[in-house]
Amino acid sequence: MNADLHCHSNVSDGTLQPEALAARAKANGVELWALTDHDEVGGQERARQAAFELDLPYLTGCEISVTFADTTVHIVGLGFDAGNAALIAGLAATRDGRKQRALEMAQGLAQAGIPGAFEGALGFVSNPDLMSRTHFARFLVATGVCHDTQEVFRKYLIQGKPGYVPHRWASLRDAVTWIAQAGGVAVIAHPARYKFSSNEEYALFTEFIAHGGQGVEVVTGSHSAADAERYADAALEFKLLASRGSDFHSPEESRMDLGGLPPLPARLTPIWETLLDRVQRPG
Ligand code: AMP
Ligand code: MN
Ligand code: MN
Ligand code: MN
Repeated sequence: MNADLHCHSNVSDGTLQPEALAARAKANGVELWALTDHDEVGGQERARQAAFELDLPYLTGCEISVTFADTTVHIVGLGFDAGNAALIAGLAATRDGRKQRALEMAQGLAQAGIPGAFEGALGFVSNPDLMSRTHFARFLVATGVCHDTQEVFRKYLIQGKPGYVPHRWASLRDAVTWIAQAGGVAVIAHPARYKFSSNEEYALFTEFIAHGGQGVEVVTGSHSAADAERYADAALEFKLLASRGSDFHSPEESRMDLGGLPPLPARLTPIWETLLDRVQRPG
């Protein structure tokens, strides 16, 4: 099954509207789709409606920013009730502070000789509650400071660089609990990205499971083939369900298109087998 359970619209830091993503997913042969905007479910109804019109089976989704072991970790939620009040309040609390952080990022960039980055980044934002580093990256590419967003992150936006501002996101326990209590399943997003030591990674997986988490992304646009093999083994070792998602953000920026990923390794249990009762279809 060509399931793509991770991508972003312009409700967070993607560049396409939810409707355009639905159309792109359908055109690319996706058979089960979820829109997983960062810390936000404001695009869910539009995505679901657009998927209905295309006869594309849909799961609700989001990607929650978490701080674990002083590192930002992303937890994807799938198949939850997007109207759940505790989840909505938790996401709002997680988004809170993004504007202040953006102002501080702009100060750091100004000191590095790049003035006006707050206003500049704001020009790329559709949802003013969700200013992300990606919007700063687009501004610095548009103004010719860097060639592409990767270069912006490398030079300006990661830890130790002038536009980086440490931020405390949700706790792992809260993020997993919000998703589970809204009837969804929680998934560790792109685990290879965190560069954890084996002790830290063991702690992440065991605490995630203790809080009720059930899945891990194995095949994602953020993983190499070797990463996918490694986390396929981890999924088996920790008895986690395996997820698959492109993490598509933009036709101009994303290396992996919607629906373009290789299949999950056959030895894994796909997370969608658990979610069949929560798939939304027309009729
Ligand atoms: P934020 O939530 O504001 O910290 O922004 C995180 C987002 O920045 C991620 O979801 C990615 O879309 C993007 N991002 C993080 N690291 C990189 C990178 N090295 N290159 C390009 N985009 C990145
Ligand atoms: Mn993003
Ligand atoms: Mn992520
Ligand atoms: Mn993502």
